[in-house]
Amino acid sequence: MRQSTYLAPTLRDIPADADVKSHQLMLRAGLIRQSASGVYSFLPLGMKVLQKVETIVREEMNRAGAQELLMPAIQPAELWQESGRWEAYGPELMRFKDRHNREFALGPTHEEVITSLVKDAVGSYKKLPMTLYQIQTKFRDERRPRFGILRGREFLMKDAYSFDTSFEGLDESYNKMYEAYKNVFTRCELNFRAVVADSGAMGGKDTHEFMVLSNIGEDTIAYSDSSDFAANIEIAPVNVAYEKSSEALNDIEIISTPGKKSITDVAAFLEADKQRCLKSLLFIVDKEPVLVLVRGDHEVNDVKIKHFFEATQVELASDQETSSWLETEAGFIGPVGIDNKVKIIADHAVKYMVNAISGANQKDTHLKNVNPDKDFEVSSYGDFRNIQKGDPSPDGQGTILFKEGIEVGHVFKLGTRYSEALGATFLNDQGKAKPIVMGSYGIGVSRTVAAIVEENHDDDGIIWPNSVAPFQVHLIPVNIKQEEQRVLAESLYEKLEQQHFEVLLDDRTERPGVKFKDADLYGLPVRITVGKKATDGIVEVKIRKTGEMLELHEDDLLEFLA
Ligand code: ATP
Ligand code: MG
Ligand code: MG
Ligand code: MG
Repeated sequence: MRQSTYLAPTLRDIPADADVKSHQLMLRAGLIRQSASGVYSFLPLGMKVLQKVETIVREEMNRAGAQELLMPAIQPAELWQESGRWEAYGPELMRFKDRHNREFALGPTHEEVITSLVKDAVGSYKKLPMTLYQIQTKFRDERRPRFGILRGREFLMKDAYSFDTSFEGLDESYNKMYEAYKNVFTRCELNFRAVVADSGAMGGKDTHEFMVLSNIGEDTIAYSDSSDFAANIEIAPVNVAYEKSSEALNDIEIISTPGKKSITDVAAFLEADKQRCLKSLLFIVDKEPVLVLVRGDHEVNDVKIKHFFEATQVELASDQETSSWLETEAGFIGPVGIDNKVKIIADHAVKYMVNAISGANQKDTHLKNVNPDKDFEVSSYGDFRNIQKGDPSPDGQGTILFKEGIEVGHVFKLGTRYSEALGATFLNDQGKAKPIVMGSYGIGVSRTVAAIVEENHDDDGIIWPNSVAPFQVHLIPVNIKQEEQRVLAESLYEKLEQQHFEVLLDDRTERPGVKFKDADLYGLPVRITVGKKATDGIVEVKIRKTGEMLELHEDDLLEFLA
């Protein structure tokens, strides 16, 4: 590829609204450009990396025996109503109506679509087991899109679904995917852990998240310093979290005020009570005020409490505002019941408070990065609940450390949740209809690209691992107008391409300083500089990762690169 006409615009300055390194570098190296919040274009260089990761994922899926298909992004509301997730998924689901006023969603995930597909296509146990996957754009109206393509609203995901006749079969399908995921992230040269996200009632490991250990991760992982043990702290130290939060709980009082119907009454009550309250929150539900009083000084996890306060500047809100607040801020999903809505709100406010502190993963109260029905079905906390930094690892090997992680993949045993809801059955060997036993497996393909950049860079730019580098070689004639340099560079370019190296030839007339700065930013594994010694057929080779430099004769170059 000739750089003079290649669309990879670099930026010298750090873009103001990019908080993390990967986001900054992906913008600066011309890999991506933002179009709207959480919505990005991949420019050619970014696209190449995306495709490389996609290829790794595809190869490992195929190797595990999974079959590739492609499902529509547009999904009819009826399917989601059947599964119960039309309500449950909340505002993250992007919904729209067609010209006939029929409702649709842009797929954030495909359990419904694939279950209904398989329902009509698989009749007998003889067809099973089967694992299907696709690599496709997903849509989620994330509450806080951020860090560039790390948390986008439109992003590329590989999603796979397994179909078995039994739970034992599911275990097997799950293990295959688990192994495939390990291969994928190993090939991407990421420092990752498969994290126990829950050790469920079935005594097995019902769900694992694949986490890249990174300072900017949004989840905290407890892991052993000398074995594979790792657990998501959102699950693991739940007791610790509850202990802490109970202090705060003492300071919360929920008062339902059915007697004080007018706003003025409630306002007067608040005024009178001002001294007692650090903060009072008032919801109006069906014209019925519900008051939440928060007292005392909260030092537990200060930041989150603060966020909670900021999020609840709803002083006197309408029904509509209250439910939309609950939905977007408190993560409360589902209709506010007619009968005991006051209680629900009150309970939820308490749970929210607890969760604002602990982030505990509990039914109806899991608030961070929630996946309705996937995360909600998780209910047990395994054996790791008291885990703390410095503890011996539960597997008897090493000591527990804590570290932040980026969730790049997630494998999950669904069981019969969707097959039962959507009536996807198979006929067993006795001719009896049974619900298909399912698993669901996601990889954030675009997020993985960002995670790779986040973990592989220095002050000058990206340092691509070989396996996903957009080009392997950056070929730079220092002065393209100098005949010997131009001729040698062109001949090397041709030779390398013939040998199937991917080469970016900097055929621009820029100053050397500009070329080298761009080269560091792009971060291709090997830089070959053609300079003054071109007359003797000598070039300079620099390894981006180590900074190692050496001079080589053009005849020795191929051997060196091989
Ligand atoms: P998160 O906890 O980060 O919100 P998730 O648990 O909601 O992710 P899953 O439903 O498990 O995500 O989807 C499978 C994979 O898709 C995730 O492991 C992640 O790698 C990727 N992914 C999810 N949401 C996004 C997003 N908004 N942008 C980019 N990738 C995402
Ligand atoms: Mg998650
Ligand atoms: Mg999420
Ligand atoms: Mg997940």
